[in-house]
Amino acid sequence: MGSVPPSLPVDGSPTGIELLFLGTGTSSSIPYIDCLTAPSNRKPCKTCLSTLTLDGKRNIRRNTSVALRVTGRDQKTTTIVIDVGKTFQAAAAEWFPKYGLRQIDAVLLTHAHADGVYPGGRCKVGNKVD
Ligand SMILES: [Zn+2]
Ligand SMILES: [Zn+2]
Repeated sequence: MGSVPPSLPVDGSPTGIELLFLGTGTSSSIPYIDCLTAPSNRKPCKTCLSTLTLDGKRNIRRNTSVALRVTGRDQKTTTIVIDVGKTFQAAAAEWFPKYGLRQIDAVLLTHAHADGVYPGGRCKVGNKVD
């Protein structure tokens, strides 16, 4: 790991680490619009088409992203998000309230594509990240 955010435990020994998947999809996400709008003479994509059904909503996949929450011995919590691409705002809106995430202390970007960091995207979390 490169530079360590200042709020990580000083002795480097966290007492708890939680990993929350915010997205596990491709760079274009699932469903892929081309699959949803494919002409009838093309083989249908069952995965993408399934997302149009209630049961198939579980197949929706946003851009790959995770939130890593580290709790130190002093019980201070540090949240690091890896990648904040095109679908980050929707993922944060769905998952942050469910897991009580209110603040991002650091963002790690894996690459400079729109699925890793989206310049048009804005998501204000707590008072630190905009
Ligand atoms: Zn598809
Ligand atoms: Zn990419």
